[in-house]
Amino acid sequence: MNHSVQLHIAGTWRDGSERATLPNLNPATGETLGQIAVATRADLDEALEAAERGFAAWRKVSAFERGKVLRRAAALMRERTEDIARLLTVEQGKPLAEARIECGVAADVMEWFAEEGRRAYGRVIPALADGVLQIVVREPIGPVAAFTPWNFPLNQAVRKISAALCTGCSVILKAPEDTPASCRELVHVYLDAGVPGDVLGLVFGDPAEISSYLIPHPVIRKISFTGSVPVGKQLAALAGQHMKRATMELGGHAPAIVFDDADVEKAVTVLSANKFRNAGQVCVSPTRFLVQERVYDRFVDGFTEAARKIRVGNGLEDGTTMGPLIHSRRLEAVEGLVADAVAKGAQLRTGGKRIGNRGNFFEPTVLTDVPRDARAMNEEPFGPVALINRFQDDEEALREANRLPFGLASYAYTRSAERATRVSSSIEAGMVSINHHGIALPETPFGGVRDSGYGSEGGSEAIEAYLTTKFVTQANF
Ligand code: NAD
Repeated sequence: MNHSVQLHIAGTWRDGSERATLPNLNPATGETLGQIAVATRADLDEALEAAERGFAAWRKVSAFERGKVLRRAAALMRERTEDIARLLTVEQGKPLAEARIECGVAADVMEWFAEEGRRAYGRVIPALADGVLQIVVREPIGPVAAFTPWNFPLNQAVRKISAALCTGCSVILKAPEDTPASCRELVHVYLDAGVPGDVLGLVFGDPAEISSYLIPHPVIRKISFTGSVPVGKQLAALAGQHMKRATMELGGHAPAIVFDDADVEKAVTVLSANKFRNAGQVCVSPTRFLVQERVYDRFVDGFTEAARKIRVGNGLEDGTTMGPLIHSRRLEAVEGLVADAVAKGAQLRTGGKRIGNRGNFFEPTVLTDVPRDARAMNEEPFGPVALINRFQDDEEALREANRLPFGLASYAYTRSAERATRVSSSIEAGMVSINHHGIALPETPFGGVRDSGYGSEGGSEAIEAYLTTKFVTQANF
């Protein structure tokens, strides 16, 4: 497995022009796995020229042909799953089983966009005057700069790249320096399936330097970013200043409301599995658990027991159900949030500490009775930390659910249809999942409101972001 990664520019894999590199680190051992090539301004200029050429050619390829290329990419992704999943686990940390699922989802997303790109229909509008034809045409927006994070190295990138490619856009991907080799493999899959070299570039380096150069650049017409709210706000401001279309998939702080008429055992099983998946480094991770008084103790006991059963370890080892955090900064951030909550009066039911001193392992942690002014109740923990509090009545739960400026995912468990409807209509969030965990499918919208960003990365909404609308009106002489 090669964890050293080059840039892909104008159809060639190569080092940065100044030969600078960054280390690719294994989060389970701290070892250096390889070196990552760093792009200079000159490299970015070449990538931009390629993206411009690539767009001019790719937009002329029919949606039918582009769809065939994406379907081939899906097949290659499935064929290469075992190798790519191992690479992903080694540099990202998640258990191998989760890495395999990520590969499978990547293939599904490619296939879905292969089809949906063929449905970027325009329309004909009846005209007032005889002999006038009024048509609405959808065109690809142009070269895209995509910035993706390390928590789902394949799935965060595959949604942006596939939506761009199926509509006829070219892409420069600034992939995460924490998980570069899995992104390289993803780019290989597209190229081997027939995406021309100029159409898909891959760069690494200083994220702020790269984004501040690419976003204002006249070649780039569309920005798509997934990451934290503060960085998203900066990039959205820059995009706005240069009148660039932007999709922003930012953080969340998902409420999970468990009413006293819920199937509590099911709620415990589904919510605990989703809390600790990918060590909680998931933007839609359930975070603020709001549990109604009558079922509170049952829920807390069940959830704490589920957290204690998690086997933390190297994702490559059999039986591991949770891997390490991505880097030492994340470890320190999670330690700080837990210590602050406990100092402010939260009850630590299990976990709360780093495991060992090699790798970035942290115990699955359950905190209850967490004061509202604890930092974790206001900042995205992005780690294996569940915050459980009790509530008396529905209004109180909904008020707390909407208290924060985030609005990405939200969850509720109830057997009452009336309550389910009240929750789905009152919660300010881009996604509401009731009585199961049913979000992030290729064919369903994925995105947030308020500080969690704007735009969608799933469903037919996802390709809208890569299309412009042209109105053509033509009189017959
Ligand atoms: P970070 O903000 O340093 O980096 C997050 C991602 O944004 C990385 O991929 C990074 O390369 C990129 N990035 C950072 N500054 C950038 C810039 N100026 N221009 C372009 N890209 C930039 O934080 P981190 O410590 O790596 O991750 C922690 C926080 O990031 C989490 O608390 C979470 O809020 C957020 N995050 C969100 C998601 C998500 O799925 N929405 C994924 C990963 C991280």
